[in-house]
Amino acid sequence: MAVTLEQLLNWLQLIDEHIIEQRGYLTELDSAIGDGDHGANLARGAAAASNKVDFEHPEYIDDLFKLVGMTLVSSVGGASGPLYGTFFLRFASSAGHVAELSAAQLASALEAGLAGVVERGHPERDDKTMFDAMEPAVLAFRTGIVDGDVPYAAVLASHAAQAGCDATAGLVARKGRASYLGERSVGHIDPGAASTALLFQALAEALA
Ligand code: ADP
Ligand code: MG
Repeated sequence: MAVTLEQLLNWLQLIDEHIIEQRGYLTELDSAIGDGDHGANLARGAAAASNKVDFEHPEYIDDLFKLVGMTLVSSVGGASGPLYGTFFLRFASSAGHVAELSAAQLASALEAGLAGVVERGHPERDDKTMFDAMEPAVLAFRTGIVDGDVPYAAVLASHAAQAGCDATAGLVARKGRASYLGERSVGHIDPGAASTALLFQALAEALA
């Protein structure tokens, strides 16, 4: 089953909606172990990206995600803008100049996005970052398309992201602002892991 440009546009639309709905929650999480701007950062990035997309109407998957990635890198202050921006820029390069992706191509694009986050932020497993939700989600998507279809894989990925996000509560932060708190970061969910869980929830909804 191919994934169309329209479904991917819907993914971005749903990410926007979830960020708007959960902006207060993301702010609350970042207020506990960071500086409280994660909800605002992502809301600003999502609005800027959707304005650009509405204006430029990209018709190919690489053009769409390059636009989104560049907008996030340039419009979002804080660590998360360049990290999510790099995710989408690498997703774009891997996807290529096409209007639809096979399941395997989508899995590769997600893997490329994850690799971009690793290159940019050097997160390791259990550092209590967005990586702890993103890595299990991307791995679950790849497993899911081997065992089943794209909607199934996207649901598996979403559940894996949520589980990874929930597990960050038990971790000591070793990257980003939360690492300044050391042991005091334990007991709080990482805001970036929470926004990554929203990203994969939106993907599951868009590909259902
Ligand atoms: P800032 O920390 O600059 O205020 P945000 O609040 O928007 O930026 O984003 C914070 C999130 O960014 C963290 O919750 C974490 O998930 C993620 N993050 C921070 N540093 C890194 C890193 N080096 N690698 C991966 N993710 C990181
Ligand atoms: Mg912050």
